[in-house]
Amino acid sequence: MSTAAPTIPAVRATLERASEIKESLAEIRLRVEAASSRNLSPTATTTPLLVAVSKYKPASDVFAAYENGQRDFGENYVQELTEKAPELPQDIQWHFIGTLQSNKAKTLASIPNLYSIQTLTSTKAATALNKALPLDRPSPLNVLLQVNTSGEDQKSGVSPLTPITPESEVDGAELVKLAKHILTECPLLRLQGLMTIGSLAESLSTEKENEDFACLVSTRDVLEGALARAGFPRESVKWGDENGRLLLSMGMSSDFEAALAAGSDIVRVGTGIFGARAKKEEITAQH
Ligand SMILES: *Cc1c(COP(=O)(O)O)cnc(C)c1O
Repeated sequence: MSTAAPTIPAVRATLERASEIKESLAEIRLRVEAASSRNLSPTATTTPLLVAVSKYKPASDVFAAYENGQRDFGENYVQELTEKAPELPQDIQWHFIGTLQSNKAKTLASIPNLYSIQTLTSTKAATALNKALPLDRPSPLNVLLQVNTSGEDQKSGVSPLTPITPESEVDGAELVKLAKHILTECPLLRLQGLMTIGSLAESLSTEKENEDFACLVSTRDVLEGALARAGFPRESVKWGDENGRLLLSMGMSSDFEAALAAGSDIVRVGTGIFGARAKKEEITAQH
């Protein structure tokens, strides 16, 4: 008797739904490509990664996107992710983008194809994750530190850093301490980059540069400087991409083009691919 995980969900999308997803996905891909080829930022070295955010959407929707070559998916809720992941192909890379509670670290760490956690904000959660991950995991779990660039109370995230902050202050900042903690105490985690959501107002304003995205870019630059000063050289490739560059995850359906123009490496698009979500979510949405 085979106990292998199924690779096709029990319920498939209707032909109509599948072709709807196929078309939206193709359109978003074209827009991502166009926006990133227009990007003049010298720091964006990699092809941007499109994460399809499938929260509140059935496994059949995920599979329809999968059949069109999509492999990276984002989920916000631990329970929803633990239900969907085993029903779907194991070569999917899951990105957790919801509020992370330390007591859920164990459940998340047990998902073999969890690729990243983009919402890390505390050393406590980092330690819990590192402890919960199986030692025989083929590669470390990518983590991104969530930065509250807009400073809104309802958004989680560590405070950003600015280029004018004195070095001594930067070295003691919460974000720097968290990054160092991961590099020194959490061998099963890889510090991949920084993530932000940003304020809705910034995302809606097309007249000027998005300040939240610019803030994440400078926070990354200041953090990299602090890590280099503290003796964590890029060449050690213990962090960031293969060049030791911390990646930036910013941009959603309404603002991913602006984010790519600002130098984003990872965009998280839900509505643009899968359509509007159920009303219930409006209440809990982070925006
Ligand atoms: C829901 C969500 C997204 C996707 O939002 P859309 O506007 O549907 O593209 C991206 N990032 C985070 C953190 C989210 O919670």
